[in-house]
Amino acid sequence: MSEVHDVVIIGSGPAGLTAAIYTDRANLHPLVLEGEPSSNSDQPGGQLMLTTEVENYPGFVDGIMGPELMANFRAQAARFGAEFRTVKAGKVSFDGPPHRLWVEGEEIQARAIIVATGARSLMLNVEGESKLLGYGVSTCATCDGFFFRDREIAVVGGGDSALEEALFLTKFASKVTLIHRRKELRASKIMQDRALRHPKMAFLWDSRVSRVNGETAVESVTVEDVNTGTTTDLPVSGLFVAIGHVPNTDLFKGWLDMEDSGYLITRHGSTFTNVGGVFAAGDVQDHVYRQAITAAGSGCMAAIDVERWLEATGSADHEIADTPRNW
Ligand code: NAP
Repeated sequence: MSEVHDVVIIGSGPAGLTAAIYTDRANLHPLVLEGEPSSNSDQPGGQLMLTTEVENYPGFVDGIMGPELMANFRAQAARFGAEFRTVKAGKVSFDGPPHRLWVEGEEIQARAIIVATGARSLMLNVEGESKLLGYGVSTCATCDGFFFRDREIAVVGGGDSALEEALFLTKFASKVTLIHRRKELRASKIMQDRALRHPKMAFLWDSRVSRVNGETAVESVTVEDVNTGTTTDLPVSGLFVAIGHVPNTDLFKGWLDMEDSGYLITRHGSTFTNVGGVFAAGDVQDHVYRQAITAAGSGCMAAIDVERWLEATGSADHEIADTPRNW
């Protein structure tokens, strides 16, 4: 039988890595399944790998770049001996403890599991979008902004992400048009002020993108006025989609309780899921706050919950066969 880990952490964003730091320091020798590099946000380091400057993470007076912040988190977790595997969990079976999961066909067992798989970008699901993803359609200004030097581009969305992406893109593009389905922006006041007064930014209100046009690269987007239904083609060479996120929870369907929207349900004020020994932290269970600092905070909570759970139910040195399944 394979080794039974005290704790396996699935995910390596602020929640997963904070949980790693805390469980490390509690001598629980966490194994972190950090995901695989991909074009979306379910990659090692999570969504901050796809962001630019983080100005509101406490402790960094002048701000810090997202990828650098996550590299620091990881180095801090590694310092105490956390084990990392750059893989995705392919299947889980939460019928323990010990609970089981599989990576690349190999079975891994754990007395406790922290789910910190985060969320990924929502897409518009309009004609041309998936065909041109990577050929002008993007969800990551940091990754792709450079390719649009002196070009005209569009950003869809009205939240902080959209405005952050749009403002970043003004460094490269000659013009950035923000297309938003309402007349008011959802973003924070400070971001609104910056965007609204930026000379390179234009706004299309009450508008939705109904088609992305181009054969091998984006040439224009068809924009529909939501009030009149009239359409116009906006010539752009890039379309950045920043309309929010969906939690990465497909793997846990049938095991963990989740809302209709897919967000995991945790017991109020804790990181306990409906299954004993399985905990959830970060954006995978939070559609309200969704900040790096709140994700990190809930990663810390998960680590403490795990520590107490293992103490109460039998840790490495104890018999675990009679551990209650639902706690
Ligand atoms: P969000 O706040 O949920 O905003 C999503 C935006 O996309 C909304 O304006 C929404 O329109 C629009 N939208 C949603 N579905 C759409 C569709 N199918 N077609 C067209 N437009 C659509 O998401 P977010 O901007 O990713 O932000 C998520 C959270 O992270 C927020 O709490 C935000 O404050 C935070 N955040 C903070 C920072 C920062 O502080 N630096 C940066 C990024 C994000 P409606 O407004 O009409 O609903």
